[in-house]
Amino acid sequence: MKKENVIKSCYSALGKYTPLEVDCGQLCDGFCCKGGENLGMLLFPGEESLIDGDITVTEDANGRKVAVCNGSCDRSKRPLSCRIYPLLPVFDGEKIETAFDVRANCPLTSGELEISRRFDKAVRRVGKYLLLNEETKAFLTELSEEQQEYNKLKDILGV
Ligand code: SF4
Ligand code: SF4
Repeated sequence: MKKENVIKSCYSALGKYTPLEVDCGQLCDGFCCKGGENLGMLLFPGEESLIDGDITVTEDANGRKVAVCNGSCDRSKRPLSCRIYPLLPVFDGEKIETAFDVRANCPLTSGELEISRRFDKAVRRVGKYLLLNEETKAFLTELSEEQQEYNKLKDILGV
């Protein structure tokens, strides 16, 4: 499948599902959309042409595309990273599971509130779609490996 179509399928899979059944932005005053020049959301391969044109695209130190916004966007054209936040589909080479993104700075990661099952299921489906193109699969694998490495480090440090 073409990478752009993979991304569109991911957007459709998520639909209107959000981390909680209610607006979680009320918990934190929409912290994840506060942005800033040095903060941004990673773009998946094929996404650059699909997102809101007012979002600035830069690159991180690894040459990955990063979306930097001014704190508002056309919600129907927000990046996939924003749609799945604070979860990440994690691919271990065989199956997809969901986990809190280790980079997420979000009150939901404390686990005190239960993430919507429909949202969790949709993020898992996103992971399965991302396996349907070599570039999106490679990107997901890279993110998953980073996540696993970070968790190993946390275990070693006991944090
Ligand atoms: S930081 Fe977390 S709780 Fe706050 S709006 Fe974003 S996803 Fe919801
Ligand atoms: S692009 Fe939109 S959804 Fe994503 S952080 Fe910016 S304002 Fe929030």
